Amino acid sequence: MSDVSLPFDAATYSLIVPIYNEEAVLPLLFERLDQLVAELDGTTEVILVDDGSRDNSARLIVEKVKSSPNFRLIALSRNFGHQIAITAGMEAAVGQATIVMDADLQDPPEVALQLVAKWKEGYEIVYAQRLSRDGETAFKLATAHLFYWVMRRLATVDIPENVGDFRLVDRVALDTFLAMPERDRFVRGMFGWMGFRQTAVPFHRAARAAGETKYPFWKMLRLAANGVVGFSDFPLRLALWLGSLISLAAVLYGIYVLVLALIRSDLVAGWASIVVVVSFLSGINLLMLGIVGIYVGRIHTEVKRRPLYIVGRRIGFAQGNAPEPAHGKVIP
Ligand code: UDP
Ligand code: MG
Repeated sequence: MSDVSLPFDAATYSLIVPIYNEEAVLPLLFERLDQLVAELDGTTEVILVDDGSRDNSARLIVEKVKSSPNFRLIALSRNFGHQIAITAGMEAAVGQATIVMDADLQDPPEVALQLVAKWKEGYEIVYAQRLSRDGETAFKLATAHLFYWVMRRLATVDIPENVGDFRLVDRVALDTFLAMPERDRFVRGMFGWMGFRQTAVPFHRAARAAGETKYPFWKMLRLAANGVVGFSDFPLRLALWLGSLISLAAVLYGIYVLVLALIRSDLVAGWASIVVVVSFLSGINLLMLGIVGIYVGRIHTEVKRRPLYIVGRRIGFAQGNAPEPAHGKVIP
């Protein structure tokens, strides 16, 4: 839990920027980041994560890092994807507050100042919420909307709509995030799951400053599937419901066919027995699949290895004497 009376002028900020083939936008980005660093009221490190760029990005970043002492580079060995790139950056961050933002200036760096203001009010997680999205196709807007609509109904955590990964997290929230060992990392879902005091800062999302989107449709689809699978067991439960429903219908139909066979003599010989056997077996089949699904769901929760709960604050325990919970996580 952050101490609200922390001497904030001594605070350090970590800015994390994932970069994948962004040579066109980098000069502009560096300019805006320099400006932001100058405006922030504490020492600031800028961590640029090169997610396996194949263009000139790496060279431009190295140049920048050499000339600006507060810029750092983490170069991944290949393209691991945006979610992993920002995770790599967050693991390297040392600041009291860490801010993740896109490289293409769609997340205006100045908004970070408003995120910081909310942080100083005592919020551990401050996400930037898009009021509008310029320069994005109707298709992207519609699919994004559909995704959040589905997530709201299925997911067990609150994932606010129109929130990407442009977000400030306090040290406490960041350590909690890093303590979650799951490998499929749907970052915005994980921050939603962990609780703490969260708030939003609205902003207008600009169009990409230069270059093209690095999130083609299939990558978005994979991100969405990751979100649903990681934060909902609905697809598994669906198998049980559908299985029960269909097997019930199959049994009823089987009974109907049986009765038909008893009262009518003009049926094709063997038809009734085949239909009864097939519907009965397929019903059992689906039902069993659903039951297996429930167990797989349990295994799925187990293997994610998330802490059962997170303790934000403990009061009244002797210093350093409070027992470590076996299933929970106390941060720090
Ligand atoms: N990005 C990345 N690895 C990837 C894809 C994207 O690090 O595999 C970075 C990209 O350089 C940018 C941010 O993630 O800084 C968001 O990507 P983009 O702007 O292309 O996504 P969009 O805004 O179109 O959803
Ligand atoms: Mg973008």
